[in-house]
Formats: sequence, C-alpha cells, structure tokens
Amino acid sequence: MPTTVPALIAETPGASFTRSTIERRDVGPNDVAIDIAYAGICHSDIHQAREEWGAGIFPMVPGHEIAGIVTEVGSDVTKHKVGDRVGIGCFVDSCRECENCLAGEEQFCLKGNVATYNGRQYSGEETYGGYSTAIVADENYVLSIPEGIDLDVAAPLLCAGITTYSPLKHWGAGPGKKVAIVGMGGLGHMGVKIAAALGAEVTVLSQTLSKKEDGLRLGATDYFATSDDETFKKNSKRFDLIINTVSADLPIDKYLSMLTLDGSMVFVGLPEKPQTFRVFSLTGGRRSLAGSNIGGIRETQEMLNFCAEHGLGADVEVIGADQVDEAYERVVKSDVRYRFVIDTATIPENAA
Ligand code: NAP
Ligand code: ZN
Ligand code: ZN
Repeated sequence: MPTTVPALIAETPGASFTRSTIERRDVGPNDVAIDIAYAGICHSDIHQAREEWGAGIFPMVPGHEIAGIVTEVGSDVTKHKVGDRVGIGCFVDSCRECENCLAGEEQFCLKGNVATYNGRQYSGEETYGGYSTAIVADENYVLSIPEGIDLDVAAPLLCAGITTYSPLKHWGAGPGKKVAIVGMGGLGHMGVKIAAALGAEVTVLSQTLSKKEDGLRLGATDYFATSDDETFKKNSKRFDLIINTVSADLPIDKYLSMLTLDGSMVFVGLPEKPQTFRVFSLTGGRRSLAGSNIGGIRETQEMLNFCAEHGLGADVEVIGADQVDEAYERVVKSDVRYRFVIDTATIPENAA
C-alpha cells in the first residue's frame, strides 16, 4: 500500500507553499524508504516552481538536496540498511543501459533520467521531491552520507556540492591552478570550499564585497567585486578555470577576458534567457566555454567522501516550513548565507 506523507506543495506556478500530503510508493524489493531530516533549497527549485525554465508538473513538491535516515529496505537491497544516514540528489532513476549510464554519468542518461521532482518515473507517475517527511527510492540512486558530516550541512552537498565538485575535477582544479568562482551563493560557496580543498588558488568574483570575509574564510585567497570594472582589468588573462554559478545574465565577454591561454569558463548556473558572447573572446586565447550538469552517482559518493575527509559541509540556515516562501525571496535577492535547509519535522500539519 502506498504511504501518505506530509509535504510542502506549490499548487500552481509561483504559488506559495502549503502543507498537504502526497503518496509515496510501496517499498519494492530494490527500494529503500527514508525519513527525510533536511531538504536544501536550491535555486533550481525556484526556477522550476516559478516555471522559469518552461512548463512544470503541478502540484509540485521541490527538493533535490535530501538527507535522512533509512527506515525500511526491500528484500533485495544490499547497499543500505535500516538506520543508515543517506542522501538523494537530483535524480532517482536512469535507464542503466546506455553508454552514459554504464560510464557512471547517469546525469547524461540518453533515455533521460528520472528527476527527483518535477519529473516522471518511467511508469509515468509524477515524482515529488524532498520538501516532505519521507521518500522511497531505488537503492542505486541513494548515497551514503559518511559519519562526520551532520545531516543538515550534508543535504546541500547532494546538489550544490556535486555540481561544483564535478567540473572542478573534470577541468583539473588542483595545485598550481588558478580558479575563479563567480557568485557566492549556494553553489558558489561550496565551489570555493572544494576548489581550495583540492589545492587550487581560489578567487571569488561576486557582485559586491559584502561577503568578502566569508569568501576568505572558506578558502579563497582573493575576492573581487564584479560591479567594479577594474576587476576585469586587474585579472586579465589570469584564470585557468572560471566556474560560473550565477542564475542570471552575465556579460560573458568580460569574464572570458580573464581566462589564460587554453583556459575554460564553465557554466553551471542556468539563467532563464539565452546568453551571448563574441567568438573573438574565445579565439584570442584558444579558450573554451563549456557547461556541466550535477554529477553521476559514483562521483557524488566520491564527493561526499571527499567532503567528509576534508571536514566540509555547507554553511546553512535551517528554517521551518513556514519560512520557505520568504527564503525563496531571499535567495532571489542573493540574501542567503549560504544555503537554506528545511527542517522537515516542521512540515506536518500538527507541527504548524
Ligand atoms: P544562489 O544561491 O541564488 O546563488 C547564485 C549567486 O549568483 C548569488 O548568490 C549571487 O552571488 C549571484 N547572482 C545572482 N544574481 C546575479 C546577477 N543578476 N548578476 C550577477 N550575479 C548574480 O543559487 P544556487 O542555488 O547556487 O544556483 C545557482 C544557479 O545554478 C541557478 O541558476 C541554478 O538553477 C543552477 N544550478 C545548476 C546546476 C547544474 O547542474 N548545472 C545544479 C544546481 C543549480 P553574489 O551575491 O556573490 O554576486
Ligand atoms: Zn539543485
Ligand atoms: Zn541511461
């Protein structure tokens, strides 16, 4: 029998969140049931709940930064057991057969993976995310959260952590490399921590200097305001890698001018509108402009283990179910330090 569980629901695009309930499927042989403890608020939740990327599936229960405890396992489950600390990120299934799935890059599944929310299972059923008290998922898409990272600061690693870890690794961030992180938000602050832990020299490019102290505390050695045009001149041809986490439009040519010979600028931020740049900005330095999307299951586990080894978690502000609408407004205004995380114990009606 499916289980009815409390959830925060947006009935229509842009609607306020209301307390309601959703059905979670019965625990199948390969499934684990998880009591969700915390769910991070990613800017992608806002883009989707407001239909900034196109039509969404409503009612919507966002949340793809999920951390909790296993409460039940199916008969064939081998990877997790009751009581384990686990997490779920941006997808809960993939075809498992295509070359990308076989390579452990399920985020690029050729059939299309099953998004944790605002998606459909291959059976056609809608998916509902982490703004809820429990979830059931296939064990292969459930990550182990190592001891040593608390669940509230672990939750954002499931998206913000892997989305920055994956391109930093892919483009070789490490000792001797100069890396710039654009945007000190949820993704950006994890990018700073991870790039520094990988041994790179890290610079933050933020709109203002208001978060400079934090940036330096998290591991950056330099911090510049992009509202000051001098920043682009001072850092001309400096960086091997620029990771752009910004959710809005950027003057891309100015950023490309800060790349060294053969440098790469990688987009992970996903603005609503198309972006433009001059081809000359690339050819002048054999530069690359690229994109990256979360990471596969194997790499996500690697990232969690890396964060545990280096003592890294997100800097979070834990909020209750009543504060989610306000938190969305604050994220849009870049007023977040540095990830809102919902304490899901506040979601049930009687917790109000
Ligand atoms: P966030 O917490 O809102 O951080 C975004 C940061 O961008 C802000 O803190 C701000 O940093 C900067 N910013 C915002 N508006 C700006 C503007 N108009 N001009 C210049 N900078 C601006 O968001 P997030 O959760 O980190 O997500 C960032 C983006 O990545 C979103 O578009 C999200 O959908 C996307 N995303 C992509 C993936 C992927 O796999 N590719 C995964 C997760 C999220 P400062 O205050 O420092 O300037
Ligand atoms: Zn996300
Ligand atoms: Zn696949």
